[in-house]
Amino acid sequence: MTHDSPPRAWVDVDLAAIRRNLETACRALPGTQMMPVVKAGAYGHGLEAVARALDMEGVTFFGVANTGEARRLSRAGVRTRPFILGPAFPEEREEIVLNGWCATISTMEEAQHYQSLAAMYGKTLPIHLCIDTGMGRAGFLPDEWAGLGDALEAMPNLLIDGVVSHFPSADEDPVFTEVQIREYADAVSLLGNRFRFRFCHISSSAGLLAYKVPGANLARPGLMLYGVSPVASPWSDALLPTLKLFSRVTLVRTLPAGHGVAYGRTFITDRPTKVATIGIGYADGWPRHLSNRGARVWIHGCSCPMLGRVTMDQIIADVTNVPFLVPGDEVELIGSHIPVTEVAERAGTIPWEILTSLGPRLPRVYHGA
Ligand SMILES: *Cc1c(COP(=O)(O)O)cnc(C)c1O
Repeated sequence: MTHDSPPRAWVDVDLAAIRRNLETACRALPGTQMMPVVKAGAYGHGLEAVARALDMEGVTFFGVANTGEARRLSRAGVRTRPFILGPAFPEEREEIVLNGWCATISTMEEAQHYQSLAAMYGKTLPIHLCIDTGMGRAGFLPDEWAGLGDALEAMPNLLIDGVVSHFPSADEDPVFTEVQIREYADAVSLLGNRFRFRFCHISSSAGLLAYKVPGANLARPGLMLYGVSPVASPWSDALLPTLKLFSRVTLVRTLPAGHGVAYGRTFITDRPTKVATIGIGYADGWPRHLSNRGARVWIHGCSCPMLGRVTMDQIIADVTNVPFLVPGDEVELIGSHIPVTEVAERAGTIPWEILTSLGPRLPRVYHGA
């Protein structure tokens, strides 16, 4: 890897840990096939590297967000078929049909378009029926389910071989989730009278860790592969951390008492304060919402409070307790001392957003390939 300047911040990725977390997903739901979700650059870890690391692990699909990600997988030589999790635009569908990527349908308009493209190219397109059991984002609604058999019978180039749904609150509402599971299972058996489904799936990480879904034979873990458990489960402790975020000190100075720190001077020193300027900012995905929220960084074994606002490329930390600090020294922002869940909580968001915000300016360094 070449860079214009020495990296001021980087992401360290443990591919072996991601493989171990996939094994844990398999052990949590024995006999269930897996669709590792690698959308959004594999949650900040790097799309191609993660997909290559899992490609030979016996997985059924890779979950991606769009055709651009699917194309990147095939260009990287990945053999596992991409599954496009969300609806595709009309202009994406030809490429889906030509490559035999797996897509979902939520409307008859999509079904008809895929049918005519597949017929034009003389192909049979495997496709999954998306059913809305409560997420409200995509899928046929319950009053449409009974009519799907007749409506899709007239589309011979579509092979309806899966039925997909999604949990909106598997990590926070067990009562609703149990009702939803019954509705999904009923839908699978109703639709199973007309379609021969090879893949029935509804669970992402939280569903996989906390529920058994009758009739489901495929699961779509994302966050848990990256070492974070969205729910308390007996398997949570088995998940290994997969990502560390590091930066480096660029300056060490001592500010006098009464001196402001960063934009808006939202922090004023109340004593002479040794401060480090650190080469990471919100342009790298270190959230500006961490400003003045009690966030910290880890330097030479010491927990150091962040002072003032996060700026675009730099932050400032109180390093009064760190002896012998010089420019170039390493700073941990996410890692064994600072979990991503803590960063998310302080920033008022969720770990998914912290991970997927880690920007392209951060080089990814891989271990355990
Ligand atoms: C992103 C996504 C997942 C993965 O969710 P996690 O909570 O990260 O496990 C699974 N299914 C669908 C449809 C998704 O959009």
